[in-house]
Amino acid sequence: MPALTDAVPAGEAALLRRARDEFAAVFARGATVAAAAPGRVNLMGDHVDYCEGYVLPVALPFLTVMVGAPSNSGTCRVVSVQDSGRQEASFPAPTAANPLKPGEPAWANYVKGVVANFPGPVEGFDAVIVSDLPMGAGLSSSASIEVVTFTLLEALSGIRTEPVRKAQLCQKAEHEFPGMPCGIMDQYVVTMAKKDHALLIDCRSLESTQVPIFNSDTAILVINTNVKHQLTGSEYPQRRAQCQAAADILGKPSLRGTTVEQLEDLKQSNCDADVLKRARHVVEEIRRSEEITKYFKTRDWERVGELLYESHESLRNLMEVSCPELDALVEVARATPGVYGARMTGGGFGGSVVVVVKKNSVDDLKKRVLSQYKGNPTFLLAIPSDGARIINI
Ligand code: ADP
Ligand code: MG
Repeated sequence: MPALTDAVPAGEAALLRRARDEFAAVFARGATVAAAAPGRVNLMGDHVDYCEGYVLPVALPFLTVMVGAPSNSGTCRVVSVQDSGRQEASFPAPTAANPLKPGEPAWANYVKGVVANFPGPVEGFDAVIVSDLPMGAGLSSSASIEVVTFTLLEALSGIRTEPVRKAQLCQKAEHEFPGMPCGIMDQYVVTMAKKDHALLIDCRSLESTQVPIFNSDTAILVINTNVKHQLTGSEYPQRRAQCQAAADILGKPSLRGTTVEQLEDLKQSNCDADVLKRARHVVEEIRRSEEITKYFKTRDWERVGELLYESHESLRNLMEVSCPELDALVEVARATPGVYGARMTGGGFGGSVVVVVKKNSVDDLKKRVLSQYKGNPTFLLAIPSDGARIINI
């Protein structure tokens, strides 16, 4: 059996040190500014942000740290340091006459998209990115790299942007450059999260409420399947389009506020069977986000757990975004004493599950996962953490 180890957060100070050292090694001078942005795990409300619903994510203690300095080369040079080595990208600082366009390498589009959407002139700069956040694990490394880039540009330029606007510009960057039509949840929580809190986001009004997650006898454990199914890439946009199709039939701007009676109308309209299933998921999942928030506040863990399982069933059967690995982990969790509930989290087709479990049952759960789950899982404790910030270099 593999060793019973968690992915341990490196922490801001260690990541900063590493980024500064790499910067000095690559650019032969010192970085002058630094920023950090976390990843996130969503406790409730998947595939509902783009339907203007409620979501309840928390920021993780796993971070992307970026350091940089202005350059007078007119070029933006960015290096991302990973276990596999350094990846480098360089592109001209944008001008009105020469705006940026997406291109190769693919990873740099997340940075470029933010540079292109920054609300102020961006001069040439050099930068290094380090991160201890797993990529493609449903923990939003993409929003983390976008928001850290935006925050570094704030530090470089002195220009500050109101946080909701900042999240929207980072979302726009992801739409336009990597070409992913994501909702607002990830960029919003990565920008606005507070330590010891989950964030209930109303994706219609774009207002949010900090929900205290007390340090109690209960843990939030993330289990990363380390699986990402290479599908056609059109699954997410297709789900989004199906939800919009349902809203269009009902004559509404989005599925937010749809009643159970209106779902019945949708059924009577003889709409596509998949469209009906997606709409049912969205309507019930939005309700679950509101409900679970109450139960987190009153620490009614049994009810929290029931809603987590319900959400997983719905993402599997109605939204159809789960996969055998995610389902298997939820089943191991379900059979473990001390587990309140579990669900897949994020967009699906691989990635992670989130489990709410008694602290003194965490080790038993991990042992069972390692012995019963045929894969290579990793464990991360989701200690609710702060959102993006400029850090002292
Ligand atoms: P998730 O957001 O769940 O991690 P995505 O597929 O949305 O998964 O985003 C992952 C992609 O974001 C990576 O494949 C890579 O292109 C980019 N990315 C994220 N973090 C980094 C990083 N530190 N360095 C380089 N690219 C990154
Ligand atoms: Mg992402």
